[in-house]
Amino acid sequence: SISLTAAAGEKSRAAFESARQLMPGGVNSPARAFGAVGGTPLFIDHAKGPHLFDIDGNRYLDYIGSWGPMILGHAQDEVIDAITAAASRGTSYGAPTEAESVLAQQIIDAVDSIEKVRLVNSGTEATMSAIRVARGATGRDKVIKFAGNYHGHVDSLLVAAGSSAATLGTPDSPGVTAGASRDTIVLRYNDVDAITQCFADHPGQIAAVIMEPVVGNMGCVPASEAFMKEVRRLTADDGCVLIFDEVMTGFRLAYGGAQERYGITPDMTTLGKIVGGGMPLGAYGGRKDIMDQVLPAGKVFQAGTLSGNPVAVAAGSKTLEILKRQPPYEQLERLGKKLADGLDAAATSAEIPHQVQQVGSMMTLFFHDQPVNSWDEADQCDRDRFAKYFWGMIGQGVYMPCSQFEALFFSRTHTEAMIDETIEAAQQVLAAIASD
Ligand code: PMP
Repeated sequence: SISLTAAAGEKSRAAFESARQLMPGGVNSPARAFGAVGGTPLFIDHAKGPHLFDIDGNRYLDYIGSWGPMILGHAQDEVIDAITAAASRGTSYGAPTEAESVLAQQIIDAVDSIEKVRLVNSGTEATMSAIRVARGATGRDKVIKFAGNYHGHVDSLLVAAGSSAATLGTPDSPGVTAGASRDTIVLRYNDVDAITQCFADHPGQIAAVIMEPVVGNMGCVPASEAFMKEVRRLTADDGCVLIFDEVMTGFRLAYGGAQERYGITPDMTTLGKIVGGGMPLGAYGGRKDIMDQVLPAGKVFQAGTLSGNPVAVAAGSKTLEILKRQPPYEQLERLGKKLADGLDAAATSAEIPHQVQQVGSMMTLFFHDQPVNSWDEADQCDRDRFAKYFWGMIGQGVYMPCSQFEALFFSRTHTEAMIDETIEAAQQVLAAIASD
């Protein structure tokens, strides 16, 4: 029989109780607390390939992949060997290494918009730094972001920021001052009129437009081609910097990211997740003239004790090498389409109002009867139904993102048979929801 209620094991529940005494909400990043689905998170013991193993001894087919990085599957042998070899030579020097140049070259070769790059420690650092550089390079203050796009917990970008924040019903964080967000303009995603009007209202004042080219942080919501093209045209005409935040989409939707897939080249790009191969590493880069504003080539300050860390660089560099050598992208496209079609058919046969939105190995089953193109539409989804779906799938051994507003990801270790099993599980769970 199918259970639709919270079902963490005894050991996970005990571990969560202890952790809550020690860390805020028991976690080091809010989405992990399962707050949106009203339960106890599963505490993980280890992971291999497409599977997670919790401390209660349960095995799950993983559709989070550490929220994006694990495109090669967990504990990939060559990546682990590279990490081990690097660590045995010392874990941090605070001095340059040749390995950093190798990874920089891999990134520059892969990503069209990047002529020069700087390595940092997270996606948040990448976007924070890119915004500073864009402001420094243009001498302008204002930044446009889109509602439901998340760019990490940068003060000035923590406005209408989707996923964790939206899920918990606190789209703006206490502690972010009015001053920090005063120069941030929030617009509706996929709304050509809104951004056209904004440039007409603020000519020559906007330093940067930052966007997720395919949003993962309000569920999977792609930009329409018309919208992306218009944003590119408006930013070029105005002389402001277009930043694609490809922390999620980089090396996932194509080796060269969403910009390769859609054939639109921004001025700057931010990366994280896959580029670090599961270790803490982010990157930002762009045109030479923009990147040469960064200290010590230029005057815009940005630094990091652990930036270019040899262990993280080894993991990232090996991951990119494997993706280049054995591109998984055709397989990810084919299985992504199969999973999307299967989830769609399962929800249709259960007569549950829904939308499946998918790009490659990123997708979301929205419990909403209309296409979701912007945050105000995502916000109309049936969160209670999502929570039942989530726990129903956990009961079937399938670990989906624990929020309606997070996209699922899968890896090249997910086989066709596993996708079939996932669809079968969804059929049973959605049928149980329909008769609940
Ligand atoms: N940008 C995007 C598009 C993201 O999805 C995320 C993280 N989910 C970030 C930035 C922030 O990255 P990090 O969590 O590594 O700081």
